[in-house]
This record gives sequence, C-alpha cells and structure tokens, in this order.
Amino acid sequence: MNEETRCVIAGAGPGGSMLALLLARRGVPVTLLEMHKDFDREFRGDTVHPSTMEILDQLGLAEKVHAIPHSKVYGPSFMTSKGLFQPFDLRRLRSKFPYILMIPQARFLELLAGEAARYPQFRLQMGAQVYDLIRENGSVRGVRYQTSQTEAEMRALLTVGADGRHSRVRHLAGFEPAKTSPPMDVLWFKLPKLDGDVDAGTGLTGSFRGGRILVVLERFDHWQVGFVFPKGQYQQVKAAGIEAMRHAIVEIEPRFGEYVKTLQDWQQLTLLSVESSYCPRWHHPGLLLIGDAAHVMSPVGGVGINYAIQDAVVAANLLARPLLEERLEPKHLAEVQRQREFPTRFIQGFQAVMQKRVLAPALGSTQTTIHVPALLRLLVRMPILRDLPPRLIGFGVRRVRLND
Ligand SMILES: Cc1cc2nc3c(=O)[nH]c(=O)nc-3n(C[C@H](O)[C@H](O)[C@H](O)COP(=O)(O)OP(=O)(O)OC[C@H]3O[C@@H](n4cnc5c(N)ncnc54)[C@H](O)[C@@H]3O)c2cc1C
Repeated sequence: MNEETRCVIAGAGPGGSMLALLLARRGVPVTLLEMHKDFDREFRGDTVHPSTMEILDQLGLAEKVHAIPHSKVYGPSFMTSKGLFQPFDLRRLRSKFPYILMIPQARFLELLAGEAARYPQFRLQMGAQVYDLIRENGSVRGVRYQTSQTEAEMRALLTVGADGRHSRVRHLAGFEPAKTSPPMDVLWFKLPKLDGDVDAGTGLTGSFRGGRILVVLERFDHWQVGFVFPKGQYQQVKAAGIEAMRHAIVEIEPRFGEYVKTLQDWQQLTLLSVESSYCPRWHHPGLLLIGDAAHVMSPVGGVGINYAIQDAVVAANLLARPLLEERLEPKHLAEVQRQREFPTRFIQGFQAVMQKRVLAPALGSTQTTIHVPALLRLLVRMPILRDLPPRLIGFGVRRVRLND
C-alpha cells in the first residue's frame, strides 16, 4: 500500500503530537504514525510546564487542559539539616500559569490528537511502526511502516523522527548521539492518598537518607513517588525484592509506613534509566529529528516533555510555510536545530552541574540529611538571583511562542 502526504511524523509522543497539531492547523497535510495502539502505556512523566501552558493558551486549549483532573507543583522543598529548604518558587513567574500542571500524559496526548483531528489534512495511524526510510537522490522521501495487518509506504516531502530516546529514525539516518552518564536511576511508582493526608505545600518534596533520595509529587488522587539510587545498582535493588524496597522507602519517609503496603509487586514500579544525550546533527535533506530523538534530557527539572514541545513549536513556526508552498530546503531544517541547540545544551549543562554538585554527593553519602551550604541559602534569597531558576525551569533559556 503506497500513500502520500506532505509531512510524515514517526511517534505520537508530546513532540510528534504537538507538531502534527500545529502543522495541520496551518493547513499542511500531515500523517502521524504511532507504533502503540493507544496512549495508555507505561509511565513517562506527566508534567506540563508554564511554557507549554502558554502555548496551549495560544491554541485556545488552556481551559480544556485544566478540565482534566490535575494537581499543581510550585517548586521543590527539601528537608535538610537546617529545616525545610525551598530553592525556588514558580509562583514568582510573571505568567498566567506559574506552576507545573500534573496531568496523565495519556490524557494530554489524547487532547492534542483530538484537536488535530478537527483538521481534514491530519491523519493519525495508531499501531503503525516505522521500520525504514525511503531515500531518493540523497534525500529522505518518507517511511516504510508496518501494522498488524500490513506493510506500507508513506511518502512525504518531510519525515520527522519524533520517536523518542531509542529513535529508529535516528538510527536509520545514521546519526549517533553523544551520551553522558548521569549518576542515578529512578524507580517511579504510585502510593495511595489516605484519610488525613496533609497538603504537600509546594507539591514536590525531596527527602534523603543513606545515599537514596525520595521525590514525592502530589497528584490529585495519589502520590507519585520517585526512588532515586546510584546508577548501576538496579539489578541489586531489584534482587533485594519488594519487601526491601518498602523498607527502604519507609526508612527515608517514615510517614509512608501504611501506604507502602499497597506495593505488592515489582510490576508496580517503572524504571527510568536516566540518560542525557545530544545528537550532533538533527537533520538531513527531507528529514528532521525533534524531542528525545534529538536530545534525551536528564530528569532534573522534569523538562523533557517541555523541550520536545518547544522543538515542535519552533519546527512548526519555521517549516509550515515552506511545506505548504512545497519549497522546503535543507536550510529550513538546519534553522530548527540552530534555534533549539543553545537552549538544549544550556539546560543540559545546568542539569550536569546539579547532578555533580548536589545529586552525586547525596547519592554517595551515608548521612541522613542533606546539608545546604549557607552561601547557597543566601543566594536563592537574593532578589536578582531568586527569579532565575523558576524562569529556567518554567520557560528555558528562550521563551518559545507560536508565530501566528
Ligand atoms: C519513566 C519516565 C519518567 C519521565 N518523567 C518525566 C517527567 O516527569 N517530566 C518530563 O518532562 N519528562 C519526563 N520523562 C521524559 C519524557 O518522557 C520525554 O522527554 C518526552 O516524552 C519526550 O517526548 P518525545 O515526543 O520526544 O518522545 P516520546 O514521548 O518518547 O514519544 C515517542 C513516541 O514514538 C513512538 N515510537 C517509537 N518508535 C516508533 C516507531 N519506530 N514507529 C512509530 N512510533 C514509534 C513511541 O511509542 C512514543 O509514543 C520521563 C521519561 C521516563 C521514561
């Protein structure tokens, strides 16, 4: 079966879904191919940052997103040797949305796909796995994909690899990302809310004990918990079993004594093998990579979804017209990377510093609380400096907006 469109996108994660919506909205025929049959699959983060909220607001979707059951995170709070330490507060941002909205990613993706479906030039094919690129005269001219019933070709002027950290499209294009190895991995799981639970304040707390960190996010109907441990110890942690895991959690957070009883099976835990990587080249004639396919972000600041969406917005701003007018050139694709390269590298640098200076020492320590240097406590209270971290986390280095 051979079909044709103007832009074919591999992967309906946050990056691919947003790009498809934005291009369809500008009148570009676009087909989104997603290998899974639905959006309800393993946990991959549920954060919607202020920058994404402002883009959704531009699209008239802010109310619809807020109608999805959600909670709000205003920033992290850490219990330290000198009491509670709050390095920054997103409520200081000058934005209609000074918080991170926590909604299930599946509902968010359904919303984007549902909006895109309002445009006749949009097509979504679920259960369609891209396995090869069509090449002609040195350019990529579409993809070959398979469904449970058939194999097919989708020809296109532009092929976008938005297929995540293990990108098949990137591999087929012959691009090799440069990887750094952050010092930790994370096991994510849910704990129930129980009667009499206290308000989590800023919505995100971090606690520490004996080389393990527990990150707790308040969700509207449960607690989302991340158990952070040194990289390379996953097999050891898993071999110790679920009972040892429950014990380790309560050791860090004694208030979870009752809650951890719901953890009965290792299947309830999702491993985030923490990675940080950057693809030196995101484009080739007829081909562009965005989101995790181009750069995997460390979970520090939880910005991976936001950065994939910002890539999509910049790509739509730059490529919609050349695609509509069928005059797409390699220089248009190079410009997408040029505009996104510095913000991505900058935040990855910031994440690397946080990992080296804060997380690695904490993970290598046998102490029971984190010690925050007095100078750092002072710096985060200084008027000029205290607004930088919320801006960096909320918007990145540059504010990304839709052009139209
Ligand atoms: C456990 C975990 C927790 C995370 N928590 C957070 C968080 O709290 N906040 C945050 O911002 N980020 C978080 N992240 C990172 C975040 O998920 C990614 O940065 C973000 O989803 C990247 O979006 P994307 O659209 O580039 O790729 P993805 O979301 O990875 O989407 C890629 C899509 O492509 C599909 N696909 C893959 N191969 C093919 C193929 N060959 N053909 C067709 N389709 C294909 C996949 O099924 C997927 O739907 C987390 C990641 C993990 C693993």
